[in-house]
Amino acid sequence: MTTRVDPNSPKNWAAIIVLFGTAIAALTVIPAYAWFHDFSTTAWVSFVVLAILNGMSITGGYHRLWAHRTYEAHWLVRLVFMVFGSMTLQNSILIWASGHRTHHRHVDDPEHDPYSAKRGFWFSHMGWMLKRYESGADNFSNAPDLLKDPLVMFQHKHYYALAWGTNLGIPLLIGFLAGDVWGVLLLSGLLRLVWSHQTTFFINSLAHIWGRRPYTDDNTARDNDLLAIFTYGEGYHNYHHLFQYDYRNGVRWYQLDATKWLIASLSWVGLTKNLKRCPKFAIEKARASMQFKRAQEKLDAQPSTVQVQLEAFKERLSLEYDHFSKALQDWAKLKEAWYEDTKNSFKNGDTMKTYKARFKALERQMKAQRKRLQALVAEVPSPRLAMA
Ligand SMILES: [Zn+2]
Ligand SMILES: [Zn+2]
Repeated sequence: MTTRVDPNSPKNWAAIIVLFGTAIAALTVIPAYAWFHDFSTTAWVSFVVLAILNGMSITGGYHRLWAHRTYEAHWLVRLVFMVFGSMTLQNSILIWASGHRTHHRHVDDPEHDPYSAKRGFWFSHMGWMLKRYESGADNFSNAPDLLKDPLVMFQHKHYYALAWGTNLGIPLLIGFLAGDVWGVLLLSGLLRLVWSHQTTFFINSLAHIWGRRPYTDDNTARDNDLLAIFTYGEGYHNYHHLFQYDYRNGVRWYQLDATKWLIASLSWVGLTKNLKRCPKFAIEKARASMQFKRAQEKLDAQPSTVQVQLEAFKERLSLEYDHFSKALQDWAKLKEAWYEDTKNSFKNGDTMKTYKARFKALERQMKAQRKRLQALVAEVPSPRLAMA
């Protein structure tokens, strides 16, 4: 019997042939072809368009819609995601989303996370697919909703037909219409497939190795701006692992999260709805507690000779953090009371006005506290002892 981490697990030849075959072909055939021929504009444009359609079907469809249920989508949107998701050759929605739910549930656990980053870069990038490891075995017990979803089950049943049909049919049709069959097949068929594979795989590997951890260090997931560009926003993986039910991955206004923008813009025309956002106070709390934790660690690492002098500073830092946490709690309580009142339809103008004023005052106070806390954190590891 194989164990979950058994290196002698049987090889998955289909995956090996597809993943290596396409990558090697892209690296050799495309440059060789380009030596003798020019690629048509249609070949390049179709590569870009199909790469985006493929990528967003994984990020917006497979991931944020089906694996995490962060919003609801019109059947037309689901159909597009299903078709172009099949084209990425990343397996059916059912297998992908159920495996991904297991990844979240057991993140980093070498025995249960199908692509645990603790088993190294290569394993989490592609290695996990090349053998039939027990850690990656299908188990749909975490996906009863998907098992009941007719579109998901239709795709699961006809996955190979859809995968072959889209991968050959779409590039062939475009190539035929544009009069550049080989150029389109190579760029929007082959290169697009390899590009879509590698960018998605980086989320399981690089986004668990390279980047910041502003929200939690309980797992290896990182926020990485560069990766977010190529992965339509999925690079904000540290946020995502803590707040997986949020339809956004990049929550700051300046973060590039193309998938979030797509889902939000589709909601303006009624094609998506019930977009879930994690409460602002929970996000702020996670960020502040990480900053506080790091500041404390840095202070504790100072030489023992200065520890006595640091006592007062440490106390001040703790106090500021407590004040900020308390304000966050008050804000959450106020939000709850407001929610109850609106639900019970006590919507008279005066009550709402009072709420508005209380929210405003509390938010002003939180902003000032946050600034003070951040100023203190910035002084670590060389706090100005004179101030303490
Ligand atoms: Zn992850
Ligand atoms: Zn996820």
